[in-house]
Amino acid sequence: MKTVNHWIGGKTVEGASGNWGQVTDPATGAVTTRVALASPEEVDAAVTAAKAAYGTWGTSSLSARTGILFSYRALLDAHRDEIAALITAEHGKVHSDALGEVARGLEIVELACGITTQLKGELSTQVSSKVDVSSIRQPLGVVAGITPFNFPAMVPMWMFPLAIACGNTFVLKPSEKDPSAANLLAELAAEAGLPDGVLNVVHGDKVAVDSLLAHPDVAAVSFVGSTPIARHIHATASANGKRVQALGGAKNHMLVLPDADLDAAADAAVSAAYGSAGERCMAISAVVAVGAIGDELVSKIRERAEKIKIGPGTDPASEMGPLITAAHRDKVASYVTGAAAQGAEVVLDGTGLRVDGYEDGHWIGLSLLDHVSTDSDAYRDEIFGPVLCVLRTETYDEGVALMNASPFGNGTAIFTRDGGAARRFQLEIEAGMVGVNVPIPVPVGYHSFGGWKDSLFGDHHIYGNDGVHFYTRGKVVTTRWPDPADAPSGVDLGFPRNH
Ligand code: NAD
Repeated sequence: MKTVNHWIGGKTVEGASGNWGQVTDPATGAVTTRVALASPEEVDAAVTAAKAAYGTWGTSSLSARTGILFSYRALLDAHRDEIAALITAEHGKVHSDALGEVARGLEIVELACGITTQLKGELSTQVSSKVDVSSIRQPLGVVAGITPFNFPAMVPMWMFPLAIACGNTFVLKPSEKDPSAANLLAELAAEAGLPDGVLNVVHGDKVAVDSLLAHPDVAAVSFVGSTPIARHIHATASANGKRVQALGGAKNHMLVLPDADLDAAADAAVSAAYGSAGERCMAISAVVAVGAIGDELVSKIRERAEKIKIGPGTDPASEMGPLITAAHRDKVASYVTGAAAQGAEVVLDGTGLRVDGYEDGHWIGLSLLDHVSTDSDAYRDEIFGPVLCVLRTETYDEGVALMNASPFGNGTAIFTRDGGAARRFQLEIEAGMVGVNVPIPVPVGYHSFGGWKDSLFGDHHIYGNDGVHFYTRGKVVTTRWPDPADAPSGVDLGFPRNH
């Protein structure tokens, strides 16, 4: 069995707490790896290493930092397949999907390579007589990142490349369910020349997380995960005086208007609902069909969903892999088996799927629930599996009202040929990321990612300009260089005014 240890101060540090987690290959159900679960003392060792490294990294030149990031980008590019293979082995998603995850993470490394332009300050000359004012942004110190299982490489890369480009040092606590990719990311960063201690990885569970939240030397915390934990992280880190961004769960809706291209809408719904077996925070989990198109749309979705090939992520023919754990698979199945009793029509039932040769994998097929009511469990909860709910409304206004009543506000999409309706939707919908005829509107690296309402706690979205702001703090410098020929200064107790 493989062992995943911590990466602290530029080297592997063996887990010493005596506590280990088990990592399973979701396709076979076999335990393949044990992962160290850090004690508070091990978390402290990582923060101490990061604090020591900050002494020189925080004041290193921009060209030194970007030089390393460019080398890092090249190494990541060369190791795409290896990273993707680790993701598939522990998460279960198919290899092509894992490669997509690596590519989207690389976008943020590329953004970080250009940190020179993002960290440029501002200068106003002569704001008052012989007085200039400049605004600069400086790093925070040691920052922590806590990440979910569903993107074991991309979500860490949403955080640490920008954080370290800004001059911070970083402690990453990845998901204990699929920890290996994080270590490879850190090892490649060291190979690229990143000084020891700038990027550290501690593995663990709630004990490690709560130690980071309480640690006096952690200045800020980035979190991505489920809503209840995001709420806990935001409340606890804030109470401990830290800056915090905590991205939570989702229930993303897609509104389909009667004039939409229904084939394109059905393609998009199937891709976004069932890609990565629905284990995406930007998955479409509810389609709202407006007007009389409901039956036709459901039949087009069904036709497409029935053709999806399910199998191990290592098989190039597979389009959808297994779920992360057997317990999660059983929970997802319970929503499907309970749906009919709560009024839904079960158009496709994916429960009970077996995959030949992989009988112990965490399999579930695609499920499609029609006429789902807004007070049913399948609608209200984030299922995080391959289950798509369809709801019907008579009008656009009813559709938007239904969607805005959701406590979540991560991503959303509208499918229509009507530009005016799409424009109204952009302004009226209560969500942080909107797609117009685009099913998974995950913003590119140079725009920021973040939801509204219970999908994000804190002020800053992640990466893009918000990421740079989150990982730096502003300072305004007001300067006066008196001329020897100036009149002598004098005492003036009045509040200073500009003149
Ligand atoms: P999770 O909340 O269970 O775990 C996330 C992290 O928190 C992990 O590192 C885990 O070890 C830690 N954690 C778990 N329980 C904890 C506790 N009680 N106290 C302290 N730390 C704890 O999430 P997950 O199951 O790994 O990931 C799936 C969730 O993440 C879904 O809800 C999904 O929508 C969400 N997600 C959101 C986004 C986004 O951008 N908004 C992106 C990806 C995933």
